[in-house]
Amino acid sequence: MKSQLDISGNTEIFIDNREVRAQEYREVRDPGKISDIVGLVGYAMPREVDLAVQAAERAFKLWRTVSVNERIDMLEVSAKILEDLSRDLAPLLVRENGAKLSEAKMDISRGATLFRKTLGIARPFLESRQIESQTDWLEIEKKPVGVTALIVPWNSPIVLTMGKLAPALVAGNTIVLKPSPYAPLTLTHCLSQMAKNLPSGVINVVNGGVETGRALLEHPRVRKISFTGGISTGKQVMESAASNIKKISLELGGNDPAIILDDADIEGLIPSLCQGVFTRAGQICFAVKRIYVPQSKYDTFYQAMRDEVSNYLVGHGLDDRITFGPLINEAQFTRVNELVQHTKDSGATVTELGAPADLTTWNQGYYMLPKIVSNVDPRSKIVQEEQFGPIIPLVPYDDIDEAVHMSNDSEYGLSASVWSSDFDRALGVARRLEAGATFINSHNIWSLSLDMPMGGVKQSGIGRERTELGLQEYVEDHAIRFIKQQP
Ligand code: NAD
Repeated sequence: MKSQLDISGNTEIFIDNREVRAQEYREVRDPGKISDIVGLVGYAMPREVDLAVQAAERAFKLWRTVSVNERIDMLEVSAKILEDLSRDLAPLLVRENGAKLSEAKMDISRGATLFRKTLGIARPFLESRQIESQTDWLEIEKKPVGVTALIVPWNSPIVLTMGKLAPALVAGNTIVLKPSPYAPLTLTHCLSQMAKNLPSGVINVVNGGVETGRALLEHPRVRKISFTGGISTGKQVMESAASNIKKISLELGGNDPAIILDDADIEGLIPSLCQGVFTRAGQICFAVKRIYVPQSKYDTFYQAMRDEVSNYLVGHGLDDRITFGPLINEAQFTRVNELVQHTKDSGATVTELGAPADLTTWNQGYYMLPKIVSNVDPRSKIVQEEQFGPIIPLVPYDDIDEAVHMSNDSEYGLSASVWSSDFDRALGVARRLEAGATFINSHNIWSLSLDMPMGGVKQSGIGRERTELGLQEYVEDHAIRFIKQQP
């Protein structure tokens, strides 16, 4: 299929399968070359948000009556459209969100796979269940919730959107989506192409920042919110949802611990674990964000990690030599730099490693070299907060109970990992961890299977995405009971 991508990357508001001119346009800049304007994005004001919700509500009346089989057939075509866009759109995504080209391709192609997988499990899940006895007839049907607002971040915009879009649409809901202002272009293009094959108003996109997001979430005709982003924004989302008790699912931040057991193969695990820390410059919700190392193995571990990370190259995502790219924007760049300074001031040792891939362009993007923190207080900010940058604290421990306690002593609970040569030992520790998912001997972008539920405990979120649990977030169970013989 030929891509219909506007070469300039500009994007409009998308309502009722039509582009709507905005009153205001903002620049999207390349975080790896800040002087480059990747495109212009039209911001939706409350008026356009209202039009989008109205369109979704009109479409809902029709879409909910389309049979599940027909919905699946139509959505299969949308999945194919997304798949075909991967090659053409990946470079645009790199220039918006600073990913490597391979990661941008993976975001789009995995998004299409996840979309398909959800369609694959939808039919049996959405069937009504009937239970009948001599005296009783009971039916439980799965009904769509209604107009659904989806809000997503910039780091993996396609796969994160597809984890919401597929279950929402196949269950019979219609959607209004607000992309992140830092990665709106690729996502809006994908959605507008996927929508063309569906009845108008089933997919609508309103671009913008906080004000647009708030207008969408507080709209009285929105019945369900599915949000992915930071914890502090998640709290605001809950407040907006309270206006008319909207249903909510929240996928929020993480501060994932990795626990190294004393029998782990340190040399063997280091490359994979370091990927889990530094991919996307640490800007992944389930990146490894603190590592607990047995005191007896601390020096060996530190040296092995140092050796590995010394080889890293940082630069623009379109340079295929790089290990990771830039931070997303000035605010994040400043925040992480301040955190580095705070960590140094607190007495910890910060070791900077790796090298710029291209010294001549280094100052043109939000680049930061990878850093390992040792001699660190387990209660310090760098250990307790989600850093979302290429810096990792190594915390020593004396016995496993202490490591489990420190891992769980957190308001976060997205994912975690345990590393050992002994599966049973690792499993015993994994079962004690407070997280939505725990990996054994892995913890990077390859660890998440599309067949496992994803979500967090404590402040890392509410609900789960993917699998039947993900579908359940977009339906209402309606029970109908007929008592055949009154007692
Ligand atoms: P963010 O919370 O700043 O923004 C997320 C989205 O919310 C954006 O589209 C933003 O415009 C919008 N928004 C901001 N304020 C809003 C408001 N008051 N009402 C409605 N919408 C509002 O997050 P970010 O910087 O884009 O992404 C990074 C964060 O997302 C990190 O904390 C990361 O851990 C988290 N994240 C979580 C997951 C997960 O699956 N758990 C996945 C990716 C990212």
